[in-house]
Amino acid sequence: MVDTVDICELNMDELTEALKPLSVKSFRTAQIYDWLHKRGVLSFQEMTNIPLSLREELGQRYRITVMEAEDILISKLDGTRKYIFSLYDGNCIEAVLMRYKHGNSVCISSQVGCSMGCRFCASTIDGCVRNLTAAEMLAEVYRIGRDIKERISNIVIMGSGEPLDNYDEVVKFLRMITDENGLNISARNITLSTCGIVPGILKLADEGIPVTLALSLHAPSQEKREEIMPIAKKYRLNEVLDACMHYYRKTGRRLSFEYSVISGVNDNVTEAGMLAGLLKRFKGASRGGRDGAFHINLIPVNPIKERSYRSPDRSTLMRFKDTLESEGINVTVRREMGRDISSACGQLRRRYIENAGSGSD
Ligand code: SF4
Repeated sequence: MVDTVDICELNMDELTEALKPLSVKSFRTAQIYDWLHKRGVLSFQEMTNIPLSLREELGQRYRITVMEAEDILISKLDGTRKYIFSLYDGNCIEAVLMRYKHGNSVCISSQVGCSMGCRFCASTIDGCVRNLTAAEMLAEVYRIGRDIKERISNIVIMGSGEPLDNYDEVVKFLRMITDENGLNISARNITLSTCGIVPGILKLADEGIPVTLALSLHAPSQEKREEIMPIAKKYRLNEVLDACMHYYRKTGRRLSFEYSVISGVNDNVTEAGMLAGLLKRFKGASRGGRDGAFHINLIPVNPIKERSYRSPDRSTLMRFKDTLESEGINVTVRREMGRDISSACGQLRRRYIENAGSGSD
């Protein structure tokens, strides 16, 4: 099964090429692609307008990536759904559906685990197990769309993994999910979150896929950033901000700076002032649009049992926000979706693995 080629990994040109030896006509190829990428079928048998003999032939040569939902938690408050998907090799990942007035947004994982080591994150505790393929990332979106029988309009690549550490597969995913032959989701409705892999940011700026870039900033100084995010030692703060500026100039997409607010670590007003100073250069770069060149997204940190970080109290958080706003900066505090099923990024998966482990012996 696993030895066969994953047909969902092939874009339209590659599929056309691959089906030539089977003398498949172009309209048939389009039908097959439609079944795979618009309707998200789980087997060739579901392709009811494709001749049975061709379906069988396809089944012998190819496989279709299927995300098995091991668990789905559904919020009674806002309909948020958290999924644990198992993969063909026994690994598992998390994905989240958030329902907003403007549409359905899916947060996907790009790797099994992560090697970046951010101190507040549960996804990185066991390192990176492997990269996800483009087909697996597509399958996260398709599976959720199929589950709710509604269109997915927005995607955030913000689950476990550093997307720019899995660059080629993530870019392939972006090309296929924005393809008019597939779900045709606008690049403007996609956000890619990175901890600041400078070469990846610079390269992405030239791909012609103007997704929104969200930088995990989390600190107003090099020293503090190194304390929270080990990757900051490799890619220094100034270098990362230069790369973000390049991305903004190249794509015109408003930048999002993510700041996990951690009690007693990075949440005082002096640090808010430093943060405003640090990002001043982006105010100057603004092309004059209503929203400016960037905004800051404050995320009260979600405690994880392996670390001692706590989220700040409400008044400290509001003081931090007010200080930024008094400097004329656009600030939002991330609304916690699915509060009643809440768990920090990566925690659900850890809990699932731990439970599976304790159940197996
Ligand atoms: S926050 Fe993102 S980049 Fe950092 S360790 Fe977690 S998954 Fe990796």
